[in-house]
Amino acid sequence: MTKTDPTPSGTMAAVPAELLAHHLKQLKLPTILREHEKVAREAARDGLDHVRYLLRLVELELLDRERRVVERRIREARFPAVKSFDTFDFAAIPGLNKMLVLELARCEYVARRENVIALGNSGTGKTHAALALGLAACQRGFSTLFVTAHALSSQLMEARDEKRLLKLQAQLQNVKLLIVDELGYVPLSQVGAELLFEVFSQRYERGSIIVTSNLPFEEWPTVFRSERLTGALLDRLTHHVHILEMNGESYRLKQSAGRRRPASVEQNTPPGAGQDAVAAPAQDDPAAPSNLPS
Ligand code: ADP
Ligand code: MG
Repeated sequence: MTKTDPTPSGTMAAVPAELLAHHLKQLKLPTILREHEKVAREAARDGLDHVRYLLRLVELELLDRERRVVERRIREARFPAVKSFDTFDFAAIPGLNKMLVLELARCEYVARRENVIALGNSGTGKTHAALALGLAACQRGFSTLFVTAHALSSQLMEARDEKRLLKLQAQLQNVKLLIVDELGYVPLSQVGAELLFEVFSQRYERGSIIVTSNLPFEEWPTVFRSERLTGALLDRLTHHVHILEMNGESYRLKQSAGRRRPASVEQNTPPGAGQDAVAAPAQDDPAAPSNLPS
């Protein structure tokens, strides 16, 4: 008898452990495969009957499976870094409505297909907040995709040139939460702006969008190169929207100023700030230096 072709009957009594391993692999139950001997020893020690033993194993598999699904969702979201609200210092940006942010972190707006727009100058935590909302969405079961406005418009133009625009648009439609970061840092080409508009328009009342921008709405026509297009876009985007006002002192500047200060001066750094697990190199704002408050 071979491992790849086990017969349910016959001489299997000699190799039950091997057969069990094979079947558990076939059934894709890796946690039960890994844990069953250890849990059996614990069950014997604790005097558990076989139902409780099986229950313990199945629960372990379920928990692990949920964790794997969340991890996959986080990978597929393509976050440049994994950040959460645990490392977000709300005191650093008093103008931000903390209650609203915590409410949004429960992700009910995603289920209601509403949008979030974070507006403010550079370095105030807009991307951090968007990443944290994205992570919360992944953890609560919503497929998510994070992309900068510039990268998205480039990808759309490339897809159009390669005659796979419909496919990309369908993929973008499929995610429950689309995060478009840094709208306004780089002006879009006319085609890029129109294609981006189409994505926003296709998601209207069908899926949530988070947009972060350093520009107030009045200046969005300079990004989209058209008052008419911007008007139509804002009309859709802001119909069901939560606005995060994130104007304030740049956190980056404050931190580097803090580092330059003598040690005796109290630093305004929250515990754990800047210690987020970085999944990939964080993108820096391309236009950050020219946007920093002087
Ligand atoms: P923005 O997108 O508004 O330009 P970022 O979110 O990129 O700003 O923030 C710049 C850096 O400062 C990031 O490393 C971010 O994690 C950190 N940061 C910004 N605001 C806060 C905050 N309130 N609490 C903790 N870290 C913050
Ligand atoms: Mg940013």
